[in-house]
Amino acid sequence: MSFELSDLIDALPGLAWSALPDGCAELLNQSWHDYTGFTAEEAADRGWIHAIHLEDRLRVDNCWSSCVSYGEPRETEARLRRRDGVYRWFLFRANPFRDKAGNISRWLGFAIDIEDFRHREEPLQSSERNLSLIINTIPSHIYVLNTEGFVQYVNQAVMDYTGLTLEDVQQEDYRDRVIHPEDFKRVREGRAASLKRTTPFSTEQRVLGKDGEYRWFLVRYKPLLDEQGRITRWYVAAVDIEDHKRALDQLQLLVNMMHAMPAAVWSVTPDGTPDIVNQSLYDYIGQTPEYVHRHPEALTATIHPDDLGAARKTYWEGIRSGSGFAMEVRFLRARDQTYRWHLNQAIAIRDQEGNIIRFLGNSTDIDDLRVAQEELQTTRASLAHVSRLITMGELTASIAHEITQPLTGIVINANACLRILAADQPDLERARGTARLTIRDAGRMSDVISHLRAMFANKKPAVGPIDLAEATEEVIALCGSDLRRKGALLFSEFSNDLPVVVGDRIQLQQVILNLLTNAADAMLTVDDRPRELSIKIGIDADTLVRVTVRDSGVGFESSGADKLFAPFFSTKPQGMGIGLSVSRSIIESHHGRIWAERNEGSGATFAFAIPRSPAPTE
Ligand code: ADP
Repeated sequence: MSFELSDLIDALPGLAWSALPDGCAELLNQSWHDYTGFTAEEAADRGWIHAIHLEDRLRVDNCWSSCVSYGEPRETEARLRRRDGVYRWFLFRANPFRDKAGNISRWLGFAIDIEDFRHREEPLQSSERNLSLIINTIPSHIYVLNTEGFVQYVNQAVMDYTGLTLEDVQQEDYRDRVIHPEDFKRVREGRAASLKRTTPFSTEQRVLGKDGEYRWFLVRYKPLLDEQGRITRWYVAAVDIEDHKRALDQLQLLVNMMHAMPAAVWSVTPDGTPDIVNQSLYDYIGQTPEYVHRHPEALTATIHPDDLGAARKTYWEGIRSGSGFAMEVRFLRARDQTYRWHLNQAIAIRDQEGNIIRFLGNSTDIDDLRVAQEELQTTRASLAHVSRLITMGELTASIAHEITQPLTGIVINANACLRILAADQPDLERARGTARLTIRDAGRMSDVISHLRAMFANKKPAVGPIDLAEATEEVIALCGSDLRRKGALLFSEFSNDLPVVVGDRIQLQQVILNLLTNAADAMLTVDDRPRELSIKIGIDADTLVRVTVRDSGVGFESSGADKLFAPFFSTKPQGMGIGLSVSRSIIESHHGRIWAERNEGSGATFAFAIPRSPAPTE
């Protein structure tokens, strides 16, 4: 029979063949061998398919598989390679040959050269070519699989990425070679199960590229169904998601880091909606993420009611303007149900175009810090007081002199008054005069004492408007005789129209007193030049009031200006070294600056500048 069949097939005026019921080639006629140049061995089984143009191979294979599976005749058009390498279009057709019982005993097929005929159908061809061009240019990896998952076709992108040919991809172990070993088992099992169902599915897997690197792909499978709803093939598109996945991994890492941070950290979207709140913050306020997700108001509910209004205002202003915010707010600590001060701040995170993508914030518990700061403030005030007492000790002689003078006057005038009154005919007018002088002296004395009281009592800082010229005059009145005793020639110059400053009068007087007594001390050993001491008050840079004390004393070393303000630095035998350090903290608490300069000639100049009080608004 086969002999007869081969004769018959050979005699047919075209390319013809027979195949076994399972689709394997049995005989190919001489015309087929002559045209393709394939030997019988090369064409055996499914080897003949390699004579078909790569772009048509899938279609032919598909058509042939469907013929065999359904036992029905089929036809398709495809390019077949001539032995000289030229492809020509053929119409392929296959029919089943049945035995008496109706079973297919073989397949008979033939192919007719339709190249010339197809030229007349050029537009159709070119649209097909376009389609194939499109598929090959798509940046996704496209696979077509048969119902068993066997690769029938891949587009150029797959071959470019893997560096494999269609033949390689069609090998049994292809997936073994390209899918990451850690993903292989999971993907294979899921895929095998899903291929049996008619619903689309997808997997994520790492695929080996020709550069030896694995990249993540999202692989989507979609079945093509026939009219009966049976799967005829699978279309598969794989998209490279490596960068996306890496970005996601990084984001996840960042979120994990945020949660692990031992500080309360959070982020909000550009419209101010809470986004990520880290575990520390949840722990602090004693809430769970799930609860806050359902009740976002739980976050603001932990703010102290007295701070809530201001906090809301600052928050929304910072979000709307994009400048973020920094505010001090009390939050309720769940652990002990106490409100504690926090520094709550946020900054805007922007993309390359400058658009805000998130606000990132943190809340730092500064309650202990605030208590420490208050304690520091109290300590500073006590130190300032001690420093004043020391100064008082130093000024005792001067103070005694200030008090003795009016006291002597009182005694003299009171005695004079008594003498006048003791006369036979007392001169009442003179007696009244001396009594008035007594009262004047007593008044002067009481003024000195009340100034002393004010300066040396341990009063809490009292802030108010101050006329610095007047305050300085008072200091001079108090220490004037001490300065004179030390041989200093004091000269003062106050600008007209000095603006008012706001601050603590006594504290600022203490600074001026320090600078004046230091200046006089620095001139104690100067004998070869006049001991000139000047104090000037003027306006500096329009917004500041500056007090300058200049002497012609021993001066200080060029490198040592900062050292002078350090606590306990003193070059004097009895010095405590706290005067300038206290002065600096007083000036800084008035938002000002204090500094020292060496004079060009001899001596030093110490100065401080503090902001003038803001001009009253209309
Ligand atoms: P004390 O007067 O107790 O030494 P201060 O803090 O007031 O403490 O001053 C620290 C040091 O700064 C002084 O010991 C002195 O060396 C230096 N100093 C202060 N004022 C002057 C000045 N006008 N000229 C030169 N040195 C000065």
